[in-house]
Amino acid sequence: MTREAVVTPPVREVPVPRLPERQRAPRKPSVAVWKFSSCDGCQLTLLDCEDELLAVAGAVELSYFLEAGFSSDGPYDLSLVEGSVTNEADRRRIERVRAVSKHLVTIGACATAGGIQALRNFGDVEEFLSIVYASPRLVEALGESTPISAHVPVDYELRGCPITRAQLLEVVLAFLHGRRADVVASSVCSECKLTGNVCVTVADGMACLGPVTHAGCGALCPSYKRGCYGCFGPMESPNLPAMIGGLNRRGLDDGSVVRLLRSFNAAAPQFQAATQALIEMGECPT
Ligand code: SF4
Ligand code: SF4
Ligand code: SF4
Repeated sequence: MTREAVVTPPVREVPVPRLPERQRAPRKPSVAVWKFSSCDGCQLTLLDCEDELLAVAGAVELSYFLEAGFSSDGPYDLSLVEGSVTNEADRRRIERVRAVSKHLVTIGACATAGGIQALRNFGDVEEFLSIVYASPRLVEALGESTPISAHVPVDYELRGCPITRAQLLEVVLAFLHGRRADVVASSVCSECKLTGNVCVTVADGMACLGPVTHAGCGALCPSYKRGCYGCFGPMESPNLPAMIGGLNRRGLDDGSVVRLLRSFNAAAPQFQAATQALIEMGECPT
């Protein structure tokens, strides 16, 4: 019995369909998150976006964000920078970050005003080091803590200590869509009114920096019956002389006013100029 020869039909090459140009997935914008001298609180605001995080992750390529485990090479479409420049390594690194970033946004009081660590700017860093550290020569620190904008051009500054989720998402979306960020530049007082708070200064005589502080927190502290201490930094056009006059009339001497203004945004130009003027005028401590 002869076996019939099996004839294998020739294999036809099936062409791989090519998607038309418009159907190919567009490249997602790449986002990087950088840390300088800071506490990580502002970066954590991004991770804290819970409900919105998946949508953000779907819209962008998180390329560099060590806190979340991403570390791809640049260049990047948007860099979010947390922290201030406090040593030589920071100074060199921020220039490299700027060079690989199409847009650069600073996030938080450290990055926009030097942060609470800028209190060193009013003292003697060498003296602090000798008191605090057993081997001060091992600590490499510049005499001042400076905002990112003192070193490289910055496209947008987002305030707060820490920043708020809503404002962060708005700024990221604005950059992704090539539009202006819709972030109000008014004072905490305006948010207090919108929230329906009773003014703690008028009702209880408390010191409150709300009139000169940038909006964004939703008047958080007055909502809990305490005065604002300015963690969002100066508003767009703060009237510091009127603010200081009001604080004096409510019993705060100039030394107390200086201490109130010297916290998370001590080196913000408007706050720094006001405290310096008070110090030069009187006997209050530096
Ligand atoms: S601004 Fe405040 S929360 Fe943000 S990194 Fe600096 S210290 Fe931390
Ligand atoms: S409580 Fe403070 S922020 Fe609110 S309205 Fe009074 S001064 Fe302004
Ligand atoms: S009320 Fe003032 S101190 Fe309190 S969170 Fe808002 S900006 Fe910061």
